[in-house]
Amino acid sequence: MPSRWPIIAAVGRRRQNDARGYNGTVGGDELTEARYIDPGARTKRLAAAASVAVNVLLIAIEGAVAYFTGSLAVLADAGHSVFDLAASLFAYWGVAMASRPPDQSHPYGHAKFENFSSLVQVALVGLIAVFIAVEVGVRLATGHRLQVPTAAIAVVVATIVVDYLAARYLGRVARTYGSYALEADAFHFSTDLWAKGAALTGLLGGRLGAEWLDPAAALAVAAVMVYTAARLGLRTSLVLLDTAPSAAVEGEVRRILAEEMGPGTGYHSLRMRQAGKWVHLDVALDLPGHVTLAEAHDLACRISRRLCQEVPEVRDAVVYVEPYSHHQEPETDRVSGPPPDAR
Ligand SMILES: [Zn+2]
Ligand SMILES: [Zn+2]
Ligand SMILES: [Zn+2]
Repeated sequence: MPSRWPIIAAVGRRRQNDARGYNGTVGGDELTEARYIDPGARTKRLAAAASVAVNVLLIAIEGAVAYFTGSLAVLADAGHSVFDLAASLFAYWGVAMASRPPDQSHPYGHAKFENFSSLVQVALVGLIAVFIAVEVGVRLATGHRLQVPTAAIAVVVATIVVDYLAARYLGRVARTYGSYALEADAFHFSTDLWAKGAALTGLLGGRLGAEWLDPAAALAVAAVMVYTAARLGLRTSLVLLDTAPSAAVEGEVRRILAEEMGPGTGYHSLRMRQAGKWVHLDVALDLPGHVTLAEAHDLACRISRRLCQEVPEVRDAVVYVEPYSHHQEPETDRVSGPPPDAR
């Protein structure tokens, strides 16, 4: 039925195709397909949901205390927690999307959603650091002195404990499953902890007559936040920009390829790129012309399986075969096996 809304109809068709069970892995290899099923998906999603819940709880507590005490400082912190909630929702979205299997619109899988989510989250942290610095500037320029009621201090101390526990828990899940999105979420909880620590230090300084301590601590935390956010942002951007994996991974891949190169064979055009914690690679094998298609396929399949099984980072290895005679001149990056028998 022709729709009056062609774009909506097209999206609907795409969704239908996506849902129909997509098999885009080369060779339909079960091992490669298994690599696209994330065993940590449930744990990661639970962790992200917990961080959303913690932020909702913090907003509720801070909002209630601000309402009953009329404290602007607590209200400002509740405002910050709304940012935190947005960031943790992004973490949840990234983790949930990344665990989807490959489909028509994302045949290489969804692992990069983690990197995109992480980039947005660290950008939010950078933005908050700028807010903190601007606030310090305004306070210094206007000579405004902070009046902080005891209730506000109690709330800050209580939420510091929550931030610490959340950062530790999320950090552990992120390390276990190599999750960029949860790593950024854990980092955000850490920065909240530092910022609140700085605020407490400033309050203490004010009581002890060291007025300079408040802006100094706030600026120091803002600087550390910007620095760390930039570092994490760069790391996740490199993955988004198809940067080659570490030399250690490349070394492992080349070791296996070298082991599989029999007499008179070689490989070239090894290409690797990252998605989330994974590496996707493709490589061309040069084989003698007399090798049968079945033999060539056996070798290519074995190499692909070994790469996926023995290098934990490799999710998908596409191995292409061609006869030596295909080349007028050898590829400049070709790595050759032992010379063919001279008999
Ligand atoms: Zn095959
Ligand atoms: Zn925050
Ligand atoms: Zn070749």
